[in-house]
Amino acid sequence: MRQPVFAANWKMNHGPSAARAFVAQFTARWSPRADRTVILFPPALSVTTVVAALSSRSDIGVGVQNIWTEDKGAFTGESSAPMARDAGARFVLVGHSERRHVFGETDAQTALKCAAAARSELTPILCVGELLAQREGGETEPVVLRQLDAGLGELSSQEIASMAIAYEPVWAIGTGKNATPDDASAVHAEIRRALHERVGDAATTIPILYGGSVNPTNASSLLAADDVDGLLVGGASLSPDDWARICGT
Ligand code: PEP
Repeated sequence: MRQPVFAANWKMNHGPSAARAFVAQFTARWSPRADRTVILFPPALSVTTVVAALSSRSDIGVGVQNIWTEDKGAFTGESSAPMARDAGARFVLVGHSERRHVFGETDAQTALKCAAAARSELTPILCVGELLAQREGGETEPVVLRQLDAGLGELSSQEIASMAIAYEPVWAIGTGKNATPDDASAVHAEIRRALHERVGDAATTIPILYGGSVNPTNASSLLAADDVDGLLVGGASLSPDDWARICGT
C-alpha cells in the first residue's frame, strides 16, 4: 500500500515571519494522521524557522526546494545537501520545472543533485514534465521518460526505491489548467512501468505525485486516479486553510 504524500512547494514565498505564522495556522487546522505524509518545502531562508516551529509535530516533514550538486565549496549563492540536512530538512525537490526552464537546469544536473541528496540521506522528489508544445507534438511520454531516466542515472536501485517522483506538466503549473485525472494516470502508469524496468517490484512502492494547479476542489479527483499517489502543490499550498483542506483529501 502506498501512503498518499502531500507536498507543499511554497516557491519564493513565505519568508521566516510569514512561514512561522503559516505553521501556527496550519497546525491549528491539521491534526496528525498516520495514513498520509505531509511535507512543507519553504524557501531555503525559512527552513530552520519552519523546522523549529514544527518541533512538536514530527508528523509534518520539511524539505528544501533545491540543492547544488557539490557538498561544499566556492558556489556563491547555493546551498548543499549536507547543509539542508543540518538545517533539519529531510526531503529535496530536484528538477522542478522552474529550475529547468527558468534557471536552465539540465538533465545531467538533476542526476548529480539526486546523487548529492542520496549521499546526505535526503529523500529526493524528482520532478518531470513536458512543455505545452511537447504535449501538442505528442512528445509527452518520451520527454518525461528521458527526464526520469537521466535523473535516476547516478542512483542505486535501493536509492531509487526510497525516493519519490512528481509528474508536473509544465503547462499546468501556476496556470489554473490541470491535467485530467485520466491524463495524469496514463503518464503515471508509464513512469511506473519505467521504474519497474529499473528496480523491479520495488517500483510498486515508489510514490508518484501529480502537480499542476491542484486546489481544494480538484484534489480529490486527481488523487483518486490510478497510480496517482500524492500531490505536489504550489499556489494553493500558501494558504493554511486551503492546504489543510487538500491534505484532508
Ligand atoms: C509547483 O510549483 O510545483 C506547482 C505545481 O505549482 P501550482 O500548484 O501553483 O501549479
